[in-house]
Amino acid sequence: MDYLCSECSIGLSKFEIKLNKLYPIGKLYCEFCQSKHEREIITKIAEIEADMHNDYTRDLLGGKNETN
Ligand SMILES: [Zn+2]
Repeated sequence: MDYLCSECSIGLSKFEIKLNKLYPIGKLYCEFCQSKHEREIITKIAEIEADMHNDYTRDLLGGKNETN
């Protein structure tokens, strides 16, 4: 089965396919394109974690305010 990079359509090596499994973002990238998108991916993950943290904090604060 051939895996092609979504951006430059180059064939992916086994190592590159493994990289894509480590960073599942719904698209396949070769090592070169992957590194270009790495910042994007990290930003996305940071945003998701920040959202989760905000929800958790809001729940805690909300609960406290209601009991007061
Ligand atoms: Zn590529």
